[in-house]
Formats: sequence, structure tokens, C-alpha cells
Amino acid sequence: MKPFSISETYSNDHSERIIDINPLPDNYCTFDCVFCPLGRTRKKTDKPHNFTETETFLDKLNKALTNKDIDLVFINPDGEIFTQSRISEIVHLIRNHHVKVRVISNGYLFNKEEYRHLLDSCDEVIGELAVTNEEDFQKLQRPLPGYTFENLLSNMSSFNSQYQGKFILDITILRNYSDTNEAVGRFQEFIQRIQPDKIFVHTPGKGKLKSAFGINHAKLQEIRTLLNVAVTTQE
Ligand code: SF4
Repeated sequence: MKPFSISETYSNDHSERIIDINPLPDNYCTFDCVFCPLGRTRKKTDKPHNFTETETFLDKLNKALTNKDIDLVFINPDGEIFTQSRISEIVHLIRNHHVKVRVISNGYLFNKEEYRHLLDSCDEVIGELAVTNEEDFQKLQRPLPGYTFENLLSNMSSFNSQYQGKFILDITILRNYSDTNEAVGRFQEFIQRIQPDKIFVHTPGKGKLKSAFGINHAKLQEIRTLLNVAVTTQE
């Protein structure tokens, strides 16, 4: 999405009217994934940043929420949402219009108390996984120094152990990294540990990323079946 943009309204399978919003100027993120559809991370950071455009964006969002009939706002940033210093105001504005909030994040900062409180006020939270071990995490997701794969898992798991809303685990399958039998087995363990309410499983589907990392449809369907079993067999 364009920086500080709001999408047209669209509907999901439950006939909810949804808008997507991107409250960031560029890819500010804690990671710099080689498979990122946005390209290289513009600024690798885990700090909140002030953006002058946010004031105008809040006005624009307020108008959209006032003038349109909307059931849900999907905060779907080009980057990591917690790098926007005014994310709390954005969520509160949406809540004040009695509209549901879905937010996506790579999940690494879910252990931070200030963000956890904010996420608790959202109806749906999406966290992401793409690899299954430390080596691939460092090589393919190129996080900030000191970040570990174990912390990514434990931050999502401990967040969801207390979260009352709907937690969705978004899994990207990367050819030669996360499509092996061993990797699928590891994802099944992670699902048991994180206990998501739902999972999305996909693979890069466009351009160079598809050539480099995409798996074929039959294989994707096979993995989806195996991982969905792990969700539905939770105790
Ligand atoms: S976590 Fe998401 S936004 Fe950040 S670099 Fe990776 S793919 Fe891109």
C-alpha cells in the first residue's frame, strides 16, 4: 500500500466491510527479510518514530470511519507497526467508532508490556513465522542484533497465553527452507506451543520471490492440511 494510505472498502466471507490502512511512510522494521515483498528494510529499528504525516492521516482515517459503513479496520503496515509512535492513538480512534481492529506484526515485540496492552485491545492479532531454526532466522530474516528465533517463539506464545481475542498465525513457506518434512514437523510443534485460533499458510506467489522461494500449489495444499491438523488437535 502507499504510505499513510487507506484502501477502498471490501468484504470478507462473513460479509464484514473492511478497510486496510498503512500508517507508515516506508519499511521501518525490526527485520530485513530476504523474502520481504516490500524490498529492503528502509530503517531497521525497534524504536517508535514520529512521522509528520501522521496528523493528516489521523484526520483522513477519522473521516473515513465517520462517512463509511465499516465493520473492521485491518492495520496492515508496510513494515512493523510498533515503529509508528502514535499507533495507540490510531487504535483508539478506530475503537471510538465502535469498529473492530485487526493488526499484523512479525511478532517479535509481543513481549513488551506497552505493546501487549495495546494488542489486548484489538479483536484480532496476526503474528508471523517463515523459518524453523536460528540459523535460517539470522540468514533469511536478518533481525536486529541480539534477536533470537527462540525469543520470537516465546514472545508470541506468552502473548497468546493471556490474549482474549483471536490470534492468527501467518506462516510463509519458503522452498528449501520451510517446505521439508522436518520443517513442517517443527511448525506443528510451534503451533502446539503458540496455540493460535487459526493459521494462514502461503508461499511467495509473484515475480522474483516466487522464483526464489515459491513452492507449487499441490505441495502448499499438502502442508496446509498437515498444519491445520495441528491447529484443530490442540487440547
Ligand atoms: S518482518 Fe515483514 S515487513 Fe519486516 S522485513 Fe520481514 S517481511 Fe518485511
